[in-house]
Amino acid sequence: MRRDEADVTEPGVTGRVFDVQRFSLHDGPGIRTVVFLKGCPLRCAWCANPESQRPDPQIAWFANLCVGCGRCAEACPRGAVTIDGGRPLTDRRLCAACGRCAAACPRQARRLMGCSVSVDEVMQEVRRDAPFFRRSGGGVTFSGGEPLSQPLFLLECLRRCRRWGYHTAVETCGYARWDDLEEAAGLTDLFLFDIKLVDPLRHERLTGVRNELIVDNLERLLALGAAVVVRVPVLPGVNDDRESMRALGEFVAGRPAVRTVELLPGHELGAHKYAALDLAAPTFGAPLRERLVSDAAEIERGAHGVECRVAQGLS
Ligand code: SF4
Ligand code: SF4
Repeated sequence: MRRDEADVTEPGVTGRVFDVQRFSLHDGPGIRTVVFLKGCPLRCAWCANPESQRPDPQIAWFANLCVGCGRCAEACPRGAVTIDGGRPLTDRRLCAACGRCAAACPRQARRLMGCSVSVDEVMQEVRRDAPFFRRSGGGVTFSGGEPLSQPLFLLECLRRCRRWGYHTAVETCGYARWDDLEEAAGLTDLFLFDIKLVDPLRHERLTGVRNELIVDNLERLLALGAAVVVRVPVLPGVNDDRESMRALGEFVAGRPAVRTVELLPGHELGAHKYAALDLAAPTFGAPLRERLVSDAAEIERGAHGVECRVAQGLS
């Protein structure tokens, strides 16, 4: 049975969230509260949010905040932390992501990325910002990770937002079950839908999955009449070349239901999070803004009535 009525709720649903950001201006209209759900089916080579990828919680250590006090090592019940030259080293094979070391750290140098929360808890946080939503025409954005990788939790949050009259946006990579996406469409005011690369083989090489399911889901959403902004993260050496931009222009022109395209300049601001998780950071750099502006104009010229803009914020 389909459950697209906002007043049919499921009590006790929990999900894994790694952040709730308030007062965002870049993830939909107005002032927004952004709920970041953990877990993503893609592994984009340029990902700026490594903490979003795995579904389970992870412990991070930020070297610039650490004073070498050793309290994290004392707090760890599994002996996963040793102090070496004043720096805590974590054996991730022993770590159970219990978060005790983070609770003991006086500097917030250790942080547990991700935890299990109920829909009620998330909505309590969201509710604080309701006055700003009303004044600014804003609302709640569900991001990740991939929010549709936790469909029950996402749908229940969307249902609550609908009941309380909050505008909702879902940022998605589009790699999801159609049934979930269709149900979300009945409860979502705006989709921010990523098309990272048009060519399926390059898409697979750079994100780990082919894009046929993604394109199919986009077309089905458009056919439903959903409000969709197509968003394209642009990275030097990945998809900023003429051929990729021409392919994107043709992709948009061939789908007249696409009315808005947003080019998102790539960046390397997630490098410190890779270091905090003991991972190697990607090094793609950032595209030239002037180039993106000219690419956006070219896409507009090739697709009648499409607005193509360069995003101000960072993805
Ligand atoms: S999260 Fe828990 S198990 Fe992992 S290092 Fe910290 S205290 Fe030890
Ligand atoms: S408790 Fe925090 S500040 Fe102290 S050594 Fe561990 S990470 Fe560094």
